[in-house]
Amino acid sequence: MERESHILVVEDEHRIARVLQLELTHEGYTTTVFHNGFDAWEALQSQSFDLLLLDVMLPGLSGIELVRRVRSRDDSTPIIMLTARDATVDKVTGLDLGANDYMTKPFEIEELLARIRVSLRHAHLAAKPSSSSLLTAGSLRVDTASHEVHVKGNEVSLTNREYTLLCCLLEHQHQVLSREQLLERVWGYDFYGETNIVDVYIRYLRNKIEKPFGSAFIHTVRGAGYMLKESSS
Ligand code: CA
Repeated sequence: MERESHILVVEDEHRIARVLQLELTHEGYTTTVFHNGFDAWEALQSQSFDLLLLDVMLPGLSGIELVRRVRSRDDSTPIIMLTARDATVDKVTGLDLGANDYMTKPFEIEELLARIRVSLRHAHLAAKPSSSSLLTAGSLRVDTASHEVHVKGNEVSLTNREYTLLCCLLEHQHQVLSREQLLERVWGYDFYGETNIVDVYIRYLRNKIEKPFGSAFIHTVRGAGYMLKESSS
């Protein structure tokens, strides 16, 4: 990291906000904390941050409203939402509006820190001009600048996670990547045996980039993992 990343924390529960600030500072991040949405929005008018950590239920402007306002003019700053356990609607709305990830409270601080690292790394890679290039395998084409994915000339819409998984496979074409490696690189932390989430996302990807086009890019290597290589079809 070239410099300390500056993280905006908006959380009205003072105890949680305090813990977040201590932990983030300990990790070497600069933090700015607000306890309501209005103050955060005001700060966002004059300052830029590397990552936003937003509680959903806030006095003033809600976290959801903050995501909507931020995304109306900035689609690159990573946003992680903090949601209550059963607030599925909030998660979906937040992600639809452009939040990159969410954590359900109560959460393990280590997991949150790992997700912050992943989000910052992705944002950093996306901002680098050198990464503005095409990744291709046969009729599969990914523009890492615009995040556009094409198969046989047709644009395919992927979720953030599917896109990251695909890029990871494309960057290591003709190499077998284990489920553990994919978990670490795409999800950024150890799921402890939850490697089947990789299989689930591989299936999502196949349904989007292979099935409709009669193509085969992602190959299952029994007992080893997955490998992406140019489709012969
Ligand atoms: Ca709250």
